[in-house]
Amino acid sequence: MDKNNEKTAGELLADKLLSNKKNGILRISDNELDKADAFCEGYKTFLDNAKTEREAAAQTVILAEKAGFKPYEAGKKYAAGEKIYFVNREKAVILTVMGKRSLEDGVRLAAAHIDSPRLDLKQNPLYEDKELCLFKTHYYGGIKKYQWTTVPMSLHGVVVKGNGEKVTVRIGEDQGDPVFCVTDILPHLADSQMKRPAPQIIKGEELNLLIGSRPFKDDKVSNKVKLNIMSLLFDKYGIVEDDFVSAELEAVPAFKASDVGFDRSMVGAYGQDDRVCAYTALQAILDCNDPDYTCMTVLTDKEETGSDGNTGLNSSYLPYFIADLAKPYGIDGRTVISASECLSADVNAAVDPTFIEPFEIRNASQINYGVVATKFTGSRGKSGTSDASAEFVGRIRNLFDAHDVIWQTGELGKVDGGGGGTVAQYIANLNFDVIDVGVPVLSMHAPFEVTSKLDTYMAYKAFSVFFAD
Ligand code: MN
Ligand code: MN
Repeated sequence: MDKNNEKTAGELLADKLLSNKKNGILRISDNELDKADAFCEGYKTFLDNAKTEREAAAQTVILAEKAGFKPYEAGKKYAAGEKIYFVNREKAVILTVMGKRSLEDGVRLAAAHIDSPRLDLKQNPLYEDKELCLFKTHYYGGIKKYQWTTVPMSLHGVVVKGNGEKVTVRIGEDQGDPVFCVTDILPHLADSQMKRPAPQIIKGEELNLLIGSRPFKDDKVSNKVKLNIMSLLFDKYGIVEDDFVSAELEAVPAFKASDVGFDRSMVGAYGQDDRVCAYTALQAILDCNDPDYTCMTVLTDKEETGSDGNTGLNSSYLPYFIADLAKPYGIDGRTVISASECLSADVNAAVDPTFIEPFEIRNASQINYGVVATKFTGSRGKSGTSDASAEFVGRIRNLFDAHDVIWQTGELGKVDGGGGGTVAQYIANLNFDVIDVGVPVLSMHAPFEVTSKLDTYMAYKAFSVFFAD
């Protein structure tokens, strides 16, 4: 060997002792990068078909049945390798592949959420003002409200009519469908608006959705535009104004998922927090065959509003399901859970070169550096975190390294710079071992969020090796 190419003692020591993180693109083979790109084609389709928790749950059932999963039957003793799914109120799904080991040895759980920030219609949403017709909304989840104006929006959800019949609404997604939007004041006349503090540039009660402008031609009636819209809604859905009281209608961005960048290295779409982890955790369980431990993916609702409610992970539906699954074997649910491990599959904030200040750069996650393992979340002194143990982080780190999962660590912003939580704490509170593992996102909670295809594929790989281990 040429003497000049030999490493110096210092270089060798640095190789041995110092961390040397490289961009994942420089570490992945061309063949595996092609796999990542191909994987994200399916991901984009899922994003377009699953814009709400109900739609994500319905899409999940379609994909699960195609993969041989059967609806869960209470009281049944399942054999190793059997694949089952359980749907909670059309908004959350638990998918299970029975393992060879006893449930006493615990389960491997991946937990992602399928709700995303959006504008929900109020229960008396419909009104006419200045001969325009609008819907009143109440935003869902943490948003920068000004981002949700002048964006084409579609409407999704269900209406339960006075006679109990349920009507499904999905309008603004198909070619030729109309869309809706929240208007904003022109810059020429925004002097007073621009003096408001940023959280009030657009106020909550200004997130009104424009839905029509043509009056019903009858001089005898007032609110002619509203009447005309209600007449159209009656023709299309058979609903009357009072039916909105028992409706869940959600306005979400109407655009489709796209590749981002000349190199098509990223995906831009609405609702990637957390459908990027939901889709990857779903695909991992769909591809899971004859595992050693029983494996589960739970796709849950209500994370963006704090996980409360009967479809959120602060409710008991997950421990009840595990207890019910274990009962025919004479095993207590708590015995299963106490031996179980969970990857809380949620996104982290990717470093944004335009907004560096909020990040603590030595501990922030970066696009293309792989799936992010987040030891703790919370804010102001780790308040509200479950904080994974060194032992469990060590186990997951070794697992990922052993299977060439490209991964990084990440902390959500600087100390005292804000913060946030995931479902990890609710699962940890049940006595699982839990760590957050997910995909870094740019523009999180905006109508158009950005992720990297490599990171997304590495999340799928991380959940897959966790199940196969
Ligand atoms: Mn999330
Ligand atoms: Mn979120």
